[in-house]
Amino acid sequence: ERQTLGRLRRLPARLSSGEVLTLQANLEIPAELPMIAQSGAAGIGLLRSEFLFMNAETVPDEIQQEAVYQPMITAMAGDPVTIRVVDWGSEKNSDALARAGIGDGGDTNPALGIRGIRLLLQHRTLLETQFAAILRAARAGPVRVMLPLVSSVGELRRAREIYARVGRRLRRKGVEIPDPLPPLGVMIETPAAALMADVMAQEADFFAIGTNDLTMYTLAADRAATDVAALYDPFHPAVLQLVRMTADAALRQRRPVSICGEMASDPLAVPLLVGLGLRSFSMHASAVPRVKRAIRAVSMDDCRRMASRALEAVDGQEVSAMLDTYAASMH
Ligand code: PEP
Ligand code: MG
Repeated sequence: ERQTLGRLRRLPARLSSGEVLTLQANLEIPAELPMIAQSGAAGIGLLRSEFLFMNAETVPDEIQQEAVYQPMITAMAGDPVTIRVVDWGSEKNSDALARAGIGDGGDTNPALGIRGIRLLLQHRTLLETQFAAILRAARAGPVRVMLPLVSSVGELRRAREIYARVGRRLRRKGVEIPDPLPPLGVMIETPAAALMADVMAQEADFFAIGTNDLTMYTLAADRAATDVAALYDPFHPAVLQLVRMTADAALRQRRPVSICGEMASDPLAVPLLVGLGLRSFSMHASAVPRVKRAIRAVSMDDCRRMASRALEAVDGQEVSAMLDTYAASMH
């Protein structure tokens, strides 16, 4: 099996009916870079920048951050790298930010408190530094910039103003940065963002669906808590409806959309997601061969059939059972 998975690296991510999909990798820590470069992934669809601030004494400055991104962009050799500005709060933590007095304010319910873009809009310098570092690093190759936990278009507008201002400042200083600025997109990981995807798509340059948080917020079940693990189900039709709405809105407004939650690493889930309208997936590098094998075995009709059956299901168990039956029939 190792060998067949290895051989897959050179084969296209193509459905049996001919449509080609984009498979990218998620990067959580720099040590994953060689594995990503080896995996056959077409770029990095989610670079989680939290590692810059974890186990760190101090907040790295613009030049230090640039120095971290630059080799990652270079290693992708022309394939795009989507860098997400820091998503601190909830289950994610950061020594450097805590020490700098930038915190989630000890909310009783951190997942519903100041995290993601909310935190960054309260601590503008942190956001400005990240934008500046990414724009500097963009000289090494194509990048995209992504905002976490957006729940209304106002957050995107305010972030875009800051982004533009940082761009102007760098140009004034004579730093060469791309013109126009690299795409600025949003993660769709709150039900509000998914429900408002049409509005969001008018101002966001791209979408990345984060099914980990989208599942948590839709089902009101903590992604990290074991006692509600059975309730936390990305196959719940409520989550799938939101994914479909997001994909439809992106298509209508001609915006790229990808999916980068854990679901995109699941060979059972990906054909279903194709049926819901997704064509681009970002996953753990180790999942790329298995996901590729799964999609090469199905046609667009198969995917669409799975999706319409899933959307008619009454709960996540029914969807899982349907996908299991489907997978069994393939062997
Ligand atoms: C998600 O929420 O699905 C996601 C990809 O972001 P993270 O897991 O980093 O919260
Ligand atoms: Mg998330």
